[in-house]
Amino acid sequence: MNKRPVILVVDDEVSNIEILSAALEDDYDICFATSAEEVYDLLRNVMPDLVLLDVLMPGTNGYEVCKHIKADSLLADIPIIFTTALGHEGAELEGLSLGAIDYIAKPISPAIVQARVRNHLELKRMRDQLATLAVTDALTGLGNRRQLEQSLARETARLSVGGGNLSVIILDIDFFKRFNDLYGHMIGDRCIVQVAATLHRAARRAADVTVRYGGEEFACVLPDIGYQEAMEIAETISMRVSALGIPHDASDTAPFVTVSLGVATASCTMDIPPGAWINAADRQLYLAKNAGRNRVIGREFSHAELREYVVML
Ligand code: GH3
Ligand code: MG
Ligand code: MG
Repeated sequence: MNKRPVILVVDDEVSNIEILSAALEDDYDICFATSAEEVYDLLRNVMPDLVLLDVLMPGTNGYEVCKHIKADSLLADIPIIFTTALGHEGAELEGLSLGAIDYIAKPISPAIVQARVRNHLELKRMRDQLATLAVTDALTGLGNRRQLEQSLARETARLSVGGGNLSVIILDIDFFKRFNDLYGHMIGDRCIVQVAATLHRAARRAADVTVRYGGEEFACVLPDIGYQEAMEIAETISMRVSALGIPHDASDTAPFVTVSLGVATASCTMDIPPGAWINAADRQLYLAKNAGRNRVIGREFSHAELREYVVML
């Protein structure tokens, strides 16, 4: 069952909260706050889908609350609708310029509130869907290259604080051009999907990110994973892909589909950009291909060694 959207109503007057709750409670879960301070506490515990925000409140006013929400990257995407009795253009403009998505005049018309909330939630749902699509690979459902770049940037920044380890695996299907030539593109696509699912199952901690990097190439970002563990995961992936037993009569490595994997592990520091991990793992993949394919080659890099994989653009 789909979760009902959560609306946070912020108003210092209980009568307004009652009117808004009555208008919205049939379709949404409502939580409410009567001051800015309560809002800050609430936002930490519930992630509302939309905020209805009164402008005039004792103490911190609605504009300040709006600024606070928009300045927090985790909260900034939550749509805010101001509700106010301040009926002049300047007040409306101020709210919109702070990032609010709409403005509803008091006294509140339940029908108008219902319609605007419905429209803005639908727009938010579509925006969220678009944001997910933008980082998803259509064939496999894994993340795409953009997702790889985003997660690498996030994880290297996070791990740099304590110098934690990050491992990256890059995988490439062996002799896949020949596979396509022999069995056709559609069976090729099916093979890519099966390899993707195998990879996804092998790197399944919440923090692990698995993406389709290019045509028949994949990458795993494994935060807080040392060299030995990363090599074990890569070996497991290699074994499981072989165990799928997808026939490949044109391969020089085996009568079934095999993969080559490159592994790079290093501790994170602020001065090394995320692309260095990709280049380092890619180099190991190249060595695996040259050594005969159907194997894992990896290396643990010191800070100075990893620096050599920083490519200046
Ligand atoms: P190697 O063992 O050195 O990796 O050889 P290879 O043939 O796998 O590598 P190469 O890079 O020469 O060829 C990759 C092939 O992957 C080319 C293309 O036919 C195929 N390919 C790329 N993207 C897709 C895709 O989305 N679907 C299918 N079916 N094939 C794809
Ligand atoms: Mg390739
Ligand atoms: Mg290949």
